[in-house]
Amino acid sequence: METDIDDLYQLLDLSNDAIVVRELSGNVLFWNGGAERLYGYTRQQAIGRKLSTLLDADSSSDLHAVGTALLLSTGSWKGEIAQRTASGIVIKVSCSWTLSERDGSCRVIEICSDITSASKTKEALDRSEARFRSIFENNSVALLEMDFTRVIQELAAAPGLADSVRNRPNEIEKNISQGLLAQIRINDCNSAAVRMLGLSHKSEVLGGAQRWISASDCNIPAMLKALLERDSIFEDECTIRGADGESLTVAIGFSFSAKDFELDRILVAVLDVTGAHEHREELTRAHFRLAKEGRAAAVGAFSASIVHELNQPLAALLMNVSASIRWLNRPEPNIDAARNSAMHAKIEGERARSILEQTKARMTTERMKVIRYELPELVRNTVTILARDLEAADVEIDVKIAQDIREMVGDPVGVQQVLVNLINNGIEAMTGVIVDKRLTLTVAPAEHGFVRLSVSDTGHGIVPESEGHIFTPFFTTKPSGMGIGLAICVSILEIAGGSLSARNNTDRGATFDVILPVSSPETGEARR
Ligand code: ADP
Repeated sequence: METDIDDLYQLLDLSNDAIVVRELSGNVLFWNGGAERLYGYTRQQAIGRKLSTLLDADSSSDLHAVGTALLLSTGSWKGEIAQRTASGIVIKVSCSWTLSERDGSCRVIEICSDITSASKTKEALDRSEARFRSIFENNSVALLEMDFTRVIQELAAAPGLADSVRNRPNEIEKNISQGLLAQIRINDCNSAAVRMLGLSHKSEVLGGAQRWISASDCNIPAMLKALLERDSIFEDECTIRGADGESLTVAIGFSFSAKDFELDRILVAVLDVTGAHEHREELTRAHFRLAKEGRAAAVGAFSASIVHELNQPLAALLMNVSASIRWLNRPEPNIDAARNSAMHAKIEGERARSILEQTKARMTTERMKVIRYELPELVRNTVTILARDLEAADVEIDVKIAQDIREMVGDPVGVQQVLVNLINNGIEAMTGVIVDKRLTLTVAPAEHGFVRLSVSDTGHGIVPESEGHIFTPFFTTKPSGMGIGLAICVSILEIAGGSLSARNNTDRGATFDVILPVSSPETGEARR
């Protein structure tokens, strides 16, 4: 039995908790190894001393008094108190006191553990949370705390959907995007967000994110891709609807990379850039007006060059008609010579007509419709249309389209006309080239709000003599060229608020770069 008690004492010594048995008066009867380690007094120093004196605990403190009262009335007490150790340091301990009766006398068993560092960590956390709350609440930028838990669960549950979002976010259908958006919730927001949406209380903002955001105006799959890949930051521009139904153009920024990443507390900053956006649109419109005026001047110059160009075939035509009449008016008409002159006159007449036809496209006053269209689709369709020509010329074609090309607003017919011209020029530039006849079409984002469409060939390149002239109407280096293809492309792009430039490649061939605005001004006026 004695051995059993020894074993029990050894076990109690091994405990990390301080285990102390004291009389009700406070005299220490038992002091384990945990108490030695926690309070810094040896068993010999502690036993027989009054616990409150030893640990300098303020036995008159409210907490201590309440603890003692509860211990006496209920037989136990649990709580947190401050105690001073042998080295004079005050520590915070979590204690459990139990009243035990033995041989007619009452004792108190105290089991205590140090919670100083845990409570310090908690205090630091509370302070940090309070700081965060104050930054969150008082920020002039609208901040939303969003919950992505359900949308991530949905992505995990739908076979292949997460992979599609990762690899082809721009190909996710709108109704799927809308379904994903419906799973995103706004759990909290600051007062700047309430004001931005034209509301008066936070509770009106909270709930499903789709109340303010539409999947057709914001790239939800791209946002989820960034979340899945833990990209440090995701920024985008999209449209949200305020309470009054007005659209706001906003820049949104997500921060996903926090170490203790919590899906239900993702912070989203929303900045209203409607004003800046309107300025940009005004600028584009001004650009468009300028281009129109510039075009009027160009038409003048163009007419002059048509006159110049038509002069020669018309003079030849008249000369041949006169010769033909002369042959016929002879006393003995020379029918063969007259026919020959008439044939030449016909050829010159046809030449004049083809010059006029070629210029018709440029002089036409058709109305151009500005619509929403997908540039990748337009590029692929154009390649399909020209597939036979490419095959006949033995030209390989590579199409490289960046993932983040968004829907465009503009004149797809004009853009296709430009692309056809550039592809045809590329094919022609590779005539005579024996190996590796290759056209590369690249679509990639350019500077903010623009897209670059490049057509690159492996042909003879732009010859030095023609540099600086290739966009001039009627400039051609081809025996049967008209020299108006590139001039027409420039006109179309200028009207659309874009541009065209050309450069020779470092190795071989030339590259033509089309810069297009993602969104052309929607005027509905005659555009060309
Ligand atoms: P054309 O019908 O004569 O080709 P364009 O206006 O389309 O009229 O082109 C003008 C000139 O620009 C061409 O004659 C040619 O010298 C040059 N050019 C156009 N595209 C290319 C190209 N891909 N590589 C080299 N030169 C080109």
